[in-house]
Amino acid sequence: VLKEALAQAEQANRAKSDFLARMSHELRTPLNAIIGYLYLLKKNSSDEKEQDYIHKIYLSAENLLGLINDILDFSKIESGKLEILEEEYEPMSMFHDLSMIFLNRIGDKDIELLYDISPSMLTRLWGDDQRIRQVVINLMTNAIKYTQSGYVRLRVETETISDEAINLKFSVEDTGQGIRQEDIGKLFNSFQQVDTKKNYKKEGTGLGLAISKQLVELMHGTIGVESTYGKGSVFFFTIP
Ligand code: ADP
Repeated sequence: VLKEALAQAEQANRAKSDFLARMSHELRTPLNAIIGYLYLLKKNSSDEKEQDYIHKIYLSAENLLGLINDILDFSKIESGKLEILEEEYEPMSMFHDLSMIFLNRIGDKDIELLYDISPSMLTRLWGDDQRIRQVVINLMTNAIKYTQSGYVRLRVETETISDEAINLKFSVEDTGQGIRQEDIGKLFNSFQQVDTKKNYKKEGTGLGLAISKQLVELMHGTIGVESTYGKGSVFFFTIP
């Protein structure tokens, strides 16, 4: 009986993941059309007020797309369907693209963005740069989101393992609100948000860190955090 119940529970869980994956996929198609046409509308509009409205719709649509992508990734990871696709990539061009995204995210917030990329960075590496980008974006977006003043610093170092392999060591340091010691253990759980009283105005699903941890582990790496409440946090991860 127990075996049967277990099989049923697993079947139900699979059905849930499949449903989530299919739904988020179906939601993305019309949303991408909305975003595309908003872009055209924005380009062709000369009215200031209209521009402002379009911009706000655009931000919300992008936000919604981010949430849907998170749900899609989460359900793929849960059902074991997320694949790591390794290929050759150029880390410096990845950092350049990322810096453009962060500049955009920071908007008019009074935070300094600092980059500290090791001078011994190689020109070409082997790995899944799309997934690495995703993790860096998650950590940097959080750092920017939960910091009011001071700085956010992305540091990337290399560590030689052998003639053919290195570790890429990332850290994202912020001078933001920090995380309570008793909350640290919950951070990487799915749908988990902490300090909700302080964060009630901030958008999010509590999926970003759970996905980041899973992605890093699928790439055979490790992820962690150190934080002082009220002072700031450092999130770090290492990927071979
Ligand atoms: P969310 O979508 O809520 O940002 P995450 O999984 O990315 O979800 O983060 C989980 C929770 O961890 C957040 O709700 C927030 O309370 C906390 N958190 C994450 N990064 C930071 C940070 N840099 N500083 C302070 N709190 C953070």
